Amino acid sequence: MNNSTRKNTKPAPAPRGGNQDRRTVKKKESTLDPRLFVKKAQPSGQEGFRTEKTFADLGLTAKLLQNILAKGYQTLTNIQEQSIQPLLQGRDMMAISKTGSGKTAAFLIPIIEHALKDPRNYTALVVTPTRELALQIEEEFKSLTLGMQLYSATFIGGTNINSDHQKLQRKLQVIVGTPGRLLDLSDRRELDLRKVNTLVLDEFDRMLDMGFVLDVNKLVNRIGTRDQTLLFSATLEPGQKKLIDGLLSNPLEVKVSGGGSTNENIEQQTIRVPEGQDKFDVLADLFANPELEKVILFTETKRLADRLAKKLVQAGIKAGQIHGDKSQNFRNRMIDEFKSGDIRVLVATDVAARGIDVADVSHVINYQLPMTMDAYIHRIGRTGRAGKVGHAITFVN
Ligand code: ADP
Ligand code: MG
Repeated sequence: MNNSTRKNTKPAPAPRGGNQDRRTVKKKESTLDPRLFVKKAQPSGQEGFRTEKTFADLGLTAKLLQNILAKGYQTLTNIQEQSIQPLLQGRDMMAISKTGSGKTAAFLIPIIEHALKDPRNYTALVVTPTRELALQIEEEFKSLTLGMQLYSATFIGGTNINSDHQKLQRKLQVIVGTPGRLLDLSDRRELDLRKVNTLVLDEFDRMLDMGFVLDVNKLVNRIGTRDQTLLFSATLEPGQKKLIDGLLSNPLEVKVSGGGSTNENIEQQTIRVPEGQDKFDVLADLFANPELEKVILFTETKRLADRLAKKLVQAGIKAGQIHGDKSQNFRNRMIDEFKSGDIRVLVATDVAARGIDVADVSHVINYQLPMTMDAYIHRIGRTGRAGKVGHAITFVN
């Protein structure tokens, strides 16, 4: 009798490193009030994004400053202004700031300064809920550390774990990853989590929710004592206060926004599909408007994402899909094609709701009402980023 049959009386263990997607999606109706999804954009957004303070004022290492300027960043965003100094001083932090407000650089810039001071003995671990977000954060780290002797790697599911071995042969100052793969590497004793000095949970309210908290706790226990812990998100889950207190020591709480609000740069509207009219036809008609240039279309299920992508292509609208049943290669290719404009519409489940930063997404469309307000905030936050104006359209019944 093999292992699997012997164990078959026990319930199957929850899959590790759950993607947004892996939880079974019940066909529940959202109970959110459609009126929540109508809002004029506030042109004050750009001012909210930029402060008076320039990066040159921060006293950063010259090379880092040069790389920041080369990225086109001149003045700090609000969250950057409030968090970079205390993080340089080594504080723990919980930071809440709107979608697209520059949280990544807010935690990476201090990490880079710490790493430069003692590259042989410094490791930061950045943990994210999705693979794409992990890759994106490493990309930003790389661009900020061009020409420096600092090294990073990303460890995520859906990739060959044997190639991770190679990456772990050199001293890494920044490790980015999703919980499942990080734990697997730790189980194999390839990744020594005790060496982590700085722990970052990006999208921390997601990292501390049901789908991830067991894995995150395991990671935290294996890391043990550390110098700094940073939590960043656009939303806050009041029920997580105890968990958060357990992670942070003498933290600074930075709240640029209340944590329950959409970015004011996003124009929000709803579309009611009249009885007897086909919802897909209404959707397809929207694309007659050339202003819908770069669109993320969210659906509740993977199956519907596949179906809509197919139907859009049949209707002559260039579309692709991204969700948890697709291979990582496929997912990466879709993101690339969407970034480059090869496809106009990216049909996605909530696997793409958080963190993903694609420049100039013109519209986010919710084909169905999202289940929670937080899901809505993150989804529509894929547009209206970095002070730009964006549009959100939500289908309601
Ligand atoms: P968040 O994590 O808050 O959602 P990101 O860190 O993904 O936001 O940043 C959103 C966008 O803003 C990115 O494209 C990033 O390059 C850009 N950005 C970040 N900081 C600045 C800055 N100081 N000036 C201009 N653009 C910035
Ligand atoms: Mg982010």
